[in-house]
Amino acid sequence: MALQGDNLVVSERKLEKMLCMKGGKGETSYANNSQAQAKHARSMLHLLESTLDRVQLESPETPFAVADLGCSCSGNTISIIDAIIKHISKRYEAMGYDPPEFSAFFSDLPSNDFNTLFQLLPPLFINGASMEECLAADGHRSYFAAGVPGSFYRRLFPAKSIDVFYSAFSLHWLSQVPEIVMDKRSTAYNKGRVFIHGASESTANAYKKQFQEDLAGFLRSRSHEIKKGGSMFLVCLGRTSVEPSDQGGAGLLFGTHFQDAWNDLIEEGLIESEKRDSFNIPVYAPSLQDFKEVVEADGSFAINKLEVFRGGSPLIVSRPDDEVEVGRAFANSCRSVCGVLVDAHIGDELSEELFKRLEPRATAHAKELIEQLQFFHIVASLSFS
Ligand code: SAH
Repeated sequence: MALQGDNLVVSERKLEKMLCMKGGKGETSYANNSQAQAKHARSMLHLLESTLDRVQLESPETPFAVADLGCSCSGNTISIIDAIIKHISKRYEAMGYDPPEFSAFFSDLPSNDFNTLFQLLPPLFINGASMEECLAADGHRSYFAAGVPGSFYRRLFPAKSIDVFYSAFSLHWLSQVPEIVMDKRSTAYNKGRVFIHGASESTANAYKKQFQEDLAGFLRSRSHEIKKGGSMFLVCLGRTSVEPSDQGGAGLLFGTHFQDAWNDLIEEGLIESEKRDSFNIPVYAPSLQDFKEVVEADGSFAINKLEVFRGGSPLIVSRPDDEVEVGRAFANSCRSVCGVLVDAHIGDELSEELFKRLEPRATAHAKELIEQLQFFHIVASLSFS
C-alpha cells in the first residue's frame, strides 16, 4: 500500500508493475464498475461472431486456444470466453464433429487481481461428461483455464499457439507516459494537466507516437503467437476527432472534473502544483486513422473490419435524473480504472481526498454528464494467413 506516494516517473517497467484496475469486490472495484464495458461488449457480439466465423478450424483432435488480453478481474472476461467457445463449438457441430478441447488464457499485467478472477470462474465440467453435456450445462465451464501475467506489448505465448485473440477496452492504455511529457525542459511537458485532453500539440503528439509504437509492438508479438488461419478481435477506446488533444469521452472522464479535483488539492494546499504536473493518465484514445496506419505498416494481418463504433455512456445508473447517483457512478468509475495510479502517486490518504472532491463536482454536472459522456470504440477484426 502506498501511504506517502513517490514522485513517480512512470517509465514502462514501473507502469507495468503497478497498473491494474481496482481489485476485489468493493464499491469502487472494477468488478463492480464494469457493467458499461459488459454492455458495450454485448452490443458488439455480432462483430465478434463474424470474426470467429473466419477462424480456420483444425481437426477436433487439436486443442483450440483462446486468449483474452487485458482481461482484468471481473465477470466480463468469463462471459466473453464463454461466448467465444460456444460459438466455435457450434461451428464444429455444424460440420458434424464433436468440438475439440479448449484452453482459455486470461492475460493481464502481474498486478491484476487474478485471485478475484479465478474465484469467479465456474467449476470445470469436462471429465466424464460429453462435450455436449458440458456445453449444455449453464454455470459450468467447458475449457481449461490459465492466467498469463505480462504486458501484451511484448511476447506472452509460444509461437503459433493461439487460434483467437480477444482484447477489449485495454489497448488505449499506453505502456508508459512518454518521457518528454514529464520533462520540464520539453515543449511537450504537460504543465497544468493530468491528461492530454486540451493539451498542447507537442504533448498530444508525444502520446500519439507512444500509442502507435505500442500498437506496433502488440501486433508484432501477436503475429508470432497466432496460428495460421487465426483471428483477432480488438476493441479499444477511440475518438471521432482528428485532433489527438480532443480525446472525446476519455477527455470528459479524465480531463474535466477529475482534473478540477487535482486543482482543488493544490488550492487547498494539500499538494504542490508540480505533483499534479508529474501525474499523467497513460491513456490515448486513437482515431481510426491512428490505428489503421499501424495495422497497415505492420502488414501481417488482413483487415476484415476496422471501424469506429458508438459504445454509449460508461455510466450505468438506475435513475439518470438522480444527480447524486450519477455523481457517485462517475467518481466510482473513474476510481476503478485509475485509482491505483493516483494512490501510487500521492498516497492513499490524499487519493481518498481527491476522489471525495470529484464526486460532488460530478454531481453538480450530472445532467451534462448523462447527456455528453459517450464512448466511441475502435473495433478491429483481423485475420492471419
Ligand atoms: N477486458 C476487460 C477489462 C478492461 S480494463 C473488460 O472488458 O472488462 C483494461 C485492462 O487492461 C486492465 O485490466 C489493465 O491492467 C490491462 N492492461 C493495460 N495495459 C496492459 C498491458 N500493457 N498488458 C496487459 N494488460 C494491460
